[in-house]
Amino acid sequence: MNRLICVLPCYNEEEVLPETSKRLKEKMNQLISSGKIAKNSRVMFVNDGSADRTWEIIKKLHDEDSLFQGVCLSRNRGHQNALLAGLMVARQIGDVVISMDVDLQDDIDAIDEMLEKYFQGADIVYGVRAERTTDTFFKRFTAQSFYKFMSLLGANIEYNHADYRLMSKRALDGLAEFDEVNLFLRGLVPMVGYKTDRVFYDRAERFAGESKYPLKKMLHFAMEGITSLSVKPIRMISGLGILIFFVSLFVLVYCIIGELNGRTIPGWTTTVISVWGIGGIIMICLGVIGEYIGKIYLETKRRPRYIVEEYLKDED
Ligand code: UDP
Ligand code: MG
Repeated sequence: MNRLICVLPCYNEEEVLPETSKRLKEKMNQLISSGKIAKNSRVMFVNDGSADRTWEIIKKLHDEDSLFQGVCLSRNRGHQNALLAGLMVARQIGDVVISMDVDLQDDIDAIDEMLEKYFQGADIVYGVRAERTTDTFFKRFTAQSFYKFMSLLGANIEYNHADYRLMSKRALDGLAEFDEVNLFLRGLVPMVGYKTDRVFYDRAERFAGESKYPLKKMLHFAMEGITSLSVKPIRMISGLGILIFFVSLFVLVYCIIGELNGRTIPGWTTTVISVWGIGGIIMICLGVIGEYIGKIYLETKRRPRYIVEEYLKDED
């Protein structure tokens, strides 16, 4: 029988947890009674070091109903790590795992269709947003530019897909083989392979509370995605260097001709501008290189990606 585990990372989500758990319970019961999933299917909340009452609520849910499990991380590690922690715990007990956000932005009714595709043989089913009308213009614009930029850099990620996806046990076992510290699951999952499929859904507005992804975190996430999936920026530096070299040859010829013709150019402005221009480019290049070196540094340390402090589960 197919034991389904839904994994939801939670960071300061006391406002949405009661509603989310209620709706998921209905959904799970409905799926169980229609015989699509096993009776011992579970909903697993991963507490990512929340500072509010999130963990207490999860504990209470677990006490009241064995449908709910809780994984408590030792501290806040960010969405991706919390999700990975949940997935890795879930793969020990489940046959098929669906990850989603706890704020009800991912339409839980898409689960039926995801399972359908899984029964048809897909190991990974991506939840793809049909439209982004509920996001602010700013979020929509930045997110879309990000996807375009990523595909330009040659990274293979699913367009308009966040972390709402179904994965079979063997796909998760595959994912477990990737032990990189710089986590960008959206980029890693396609590398696992197997048969994939997609399900379209409308992304709703956050049910309650505020986004835990302010601009700063979003930029960091985008940077993480680009540098952990693609080495093109490094190659672009070499390209830029060659281009600048040719431009400087051209400038050299231009200066020599000017000199021979006896033209004295005040040239202060151009000199200063070019010094600053080149300086800026060098800084950017160093920054990009630094980004990769930083990554290498973190990878070589082999630090744990998450530490589970407590795991609330029923004996079965
Ligand atoms: N989240 C987390 N750790 C963090 C930040 C966010 O586990 O450090 C969780 C959060 O509780 C939610 C999901 O990641 O379930 C997505 O976050 P959010 O909805 O705030 O992001 P947005 O939808 O605005 O991009
Ligand atoms: Mg959200």
